Amino acid sequence: MLFTVLTSAKSPGIAEGLTYESQTDLEPGTIVSVPLRNKQIEGIVLGTGQQSTFDIKSIIKNLSETPLLSTQHIRTLQWMSEYYCCSLRHALRVALPSPPWEALLPKEIEGFTLEKKTEVRGAKQQAVIDYLDQHGWTSWEDLRTELGVTRATIKPLLEKEIIKHANHREFERNNNQEVSVTRPTLTEEQQAAYELVKDSQKPSLLFGVTGSGKTEVYTNLIADAVAEGKQAILLVPEILLTEATIQRFSHGIDPESIAVLHSRLTPAKRRETWKKIRFGKVKLVIGSRSALFAPVTNLGIVVIDEEHEWTYKNEQTPRYHARETAQKLCEEFGAKLVLGSATPSIESWQRAKDGSFTLAKLSSRYGGASMPLVKVVDLAQVHFGNNYPFSNTLIDAIKDRLAKHEQTVLFLNRRGHSTSLLCLDCRRRVVSPDSHLPFTVHKRGSTVYLQDHTTGATAEIPELCPGCQSTRLHAVGAGTQKVEQLLDSLFPSARVLRADSDTLSHPETMRALLEKMQNNEADILLGTQTVVKGLDLPNVTLAGVLVADVGMSLPHFRAGERSFQLLTQLTGRSGRHKPGEVIIQTFRPDAPEVKCAALHETETYIEKELSVRTQLGYPPSTEMVRLILRGPDAKMRAEVLAASLLETSDGQAVSYSPTLFGGGNEWHIFIRGSGAKKLLSSTDLSGVVVDIDPMDCV
Ligand code: ADP
Ligand code: ZN
Repeated sequence: MLFTVLTSAKSPGIAEGLTYESQTDLEPGTIVSVPLRNKQIEGIVLGTGQQSTFDIKSIIKNLSETPLLSTQHIRTLQWMSEYYCCSLRHALRVALPSPPWEALLPKEIEGFTLEKKTEVRGAKQQAVIDYLDQHGWTSWEDLRTELGVTRATIKPLLEKEIIKHANHREFERNNNQEVSVTRPTLTEEQQAAYELVKDSQKPSLLFGVTGSGKTEVYTNLIADAVAEGKQAILLVPEILLTEATIQRFSHGIDPESIAVLHSRLTPAKRRETWKKIRFGKVKLVIGSRSALFAPVTNLGIVVIDEEHEWTYKNEQTPRYHARETAQKLCEEFGAKLVLGSATPSIESWQRAKDGSFTLAKLSSRYGGASMPLVKVVDLAQVHFGNNYPFSNTLIDAIKDRLAKHEQTVLFLNRRGHSTSLLCLDCRRRVVSPDSHLPFTVHKRGSTVYLQDHTTGATAEIPELCPGCQSTRLHAVGAGTQKVEQLLDSLFPSARVLRADSDTLSHPETMRALLEKMQNNEADILLGTQTVVKGLDLPNVTLAGVLVADVGMSLPHFRAGERSFQLLTQLTGRSGRHKPGEVIIQTFRPDAPEVKCAALHETETYIEKELSVRTQLGYPPSTEMVRLILRGPDAKMRAEVLAASLLETSDGQAVSYSPTLFGGGNEWHIFIRGSGAKKLLSSTDLSGVVVDIDPMDCV
């Protein structure tokens, strides 16, 4: 019999697998040892192989009794490799920890059972007997660490046949335990949404305002899957949020049956978690994007919380989107897919409208909490003195919270690069004449100058706005440090916590921070949007964004959508349990993103954005592909490739430009229009990164 085997070798020439022969049948997903260029190497069986004119070698050894990957996973990886134009090896990398793969198989564990319950003289030996009597089979490792015994202690017990050696395979003993998930009682509206999703045969979009209890609906759906003996995967957009999510779930389900998977685990920890999911009794996997590939064998449901988040798109090969990939995986398993958001992505919204998704809505906050009152502060009208970016409105509001012992959450812009020069009159940024992108303000010693990051070119700070000749030019974009210092001097008595991916390197450091907020040991949480959104903190009654950089800095068709999502997330943090307030400080108070977010008009915004996209021919109304070229000759290659693409194009638009942060050595080409992907089939793409359905376009 012939089989296709993907080896762990790195050679690009064999990234789709090689054909080998075997006398015995092998299930897809099995780990084998195969010959490759006079060496033995590990490989994974993908399926049956093709006859070939080459000399076909034989598989040397079957290393696993059971497949490591299910056929459902393998088919999903094959789909990924086709859809996202990457090799199977690249696709496999997200699903399987790095080799040796044999280390992913259950180990033999040494252990003991009690044969005769007797009294002996030695205290340590008696302890072993009592322990085995109480706990039944125990591993040597546990005996050693629990009782502090050595081999010498147990030797006489073995000789007298009081205890007996009994080895077990890892995970073998703790299977088949009943696990159940405690169900929160749902409100009428939640119950209706839950039933709609439960009965739907299609993927569902759960569109629920912030604080409406989407998590409670997920929990009930997950409980259903677990009650049927199936497994659930819950994806969150940010690694640091896994901690908050576990906290919420650990009350309702045996913590032993929850596994957490994300890309910041050490290789050893990742392998251990992977094994526990594949062979243990894990019922619920919580994690970020890559947790989608947790090696479950009986998948019942995938929930993607905050499905609109950009972090669900992998920005490295394989450049997959967790949402689309989850849809394929769920199809393969016959599992349910639930996408939840307070600000659905335009993509999912369109699918809900055209009927490919079921739409379930939660339109009110839990417990009669009202949506917070949103104030918009026009930064161009504010006289800051030394307090930029704190307006008096914001300062007063924070003082008020401090007096009432309530908490404040402040959002900061993440992009350190974003300090640019803004005209307070025409509200446009000073852009580079070469790239038409905003200049970045730089400071070296006492000289301040502008730099175009795409070309490296520098320029002096202009006296007047090039657009309207105004003298009111202002450098915008304050760094975290500066804001922290200002907070200190404005509110000396306030206890300030800072949360960003730099200060919190690991989800566990997030736990301490959450506890401080929950125990009211802090007054102000200053964080980047990525970290702070999604938190459910009852005593937060004020949320503020210091500078809402609404869609004006990046020439990007998704910029508006993104700003809207951020602002809505912000409004979602405040007043979840008692009346709250939100302050948006911005240079663009009239932007539709700000207005709709302030009025909680999500549907209005999404509908409008969808119709603009459709009119102008942008996703999701059509296809889009991005090709990235890197190196000193990137510009020239991009020109040549774009020209040849244009020649074969049958109506698709082709454009190319330098990337924003590539320093001139990185260019990208955009192909837009129906059939955009087909255009690639007749193109030589060596040395080109292919990004299907791109999210990041700058
Ligand atoms: P969302 O994820 O939609 O923003 P959450 O699931 O975080 O909303 O719910 C908001 C708050 O309301 C949480 O503190 C949650 O515990 C509470 N809550 C929501 N629904 C219920 C319910 N049915 N029973 C008890 N508490 C609920
Ligand atoms: Zn101007």
